[in-house]
Amino acid sequence: MAFMCATGKHRKPGRVKRTTAQAAGVAALTTTGVIGTLAASPALAAENPTEQTGLVPVLTMTEDVPEQIDAQAAAQQHAAEQKAAEEAAAKAAAKRAEEVRAAKARAAREAERKLLNTFVAPIAHSYVSTGYQASSSLWSSGSHTGIDFHAASGTAVHAVGSGTVVSTGWGGAYGNQIVIRMADGMYTQYGHLSSIGVTVGQKVVPGQQIALSGATGNVTGPHLHFEARTTPEYGSDVDPVAYLRKHGVDL
Ligand SMILES: [Zn+2]
Repeated sequence: MAFMCATGKHRKPGRVKRTTAQAAGVAALTTTGVIGTLAASPALAAENPTEQTGLVPVLTMTEDVPEQIDAQAAAQQHAAEQKAAEEAAAKAAAKRAEEVRAAKARAAREAERKLLNTFVAPIAHSYVSTGYQASSSLWSSGSHTGIDFHAASGTAVHAVGSGTVVSTGWGGAYGNQIVIRMADGMYTQYGHLSSIGVTVGQKVVPGQQIALSGATGNVTGPHLHFEARTTPEYGSDVDPVAYLRKHGVDL
């Protein structure tokens, strides 16, 4: 007969005791004649409104009715507790999902930041064969506007950092060339290429192969001509060695 909820509450004895005590209280009140003031007492009415109005039915109830009411109340409480537990579980799951999402976003930001700060040499395992501003009759300005990396024809040429390709194609004395706008707002230029592997508008990441070196344009032999610029145009060059070193490239 005991209805056990998950919480182990056993309500029936409490109710039986209460109704018995109440009946005894009413009987005592009746003998002293105070019953007439019971309903008029606002303190009692506020304290126990259901027992006040339910006085007669409680006394005439059969044994089964309170038991059914108790079982129903216990079932309702059980359902309410289950619902609360489900809501708490859903809340916890949502919180965990949000934490995972935030961690992923942090990792993506960190990866993006790392990519933006990573720079490499345009030709791996090479060296600078002709320095910046070296003098030669080969160059129309009379001074070298970039640096030359030693490279046999067909050597992989890499983007030195993250950026977007802004021009590709024939560049006169530069032969086949690529100009990339870097993530830091500067530009890098790659000349004398034998083949071009990117298109205008394409995003590149540090170390991505963009071309093969060659000997196109005004050259005496194959190599990669590399410039760092403040604009996409010829004449805005800065020291490319200083630029790469500033970004951690060991030259
Ligand atoms: Zn050069």
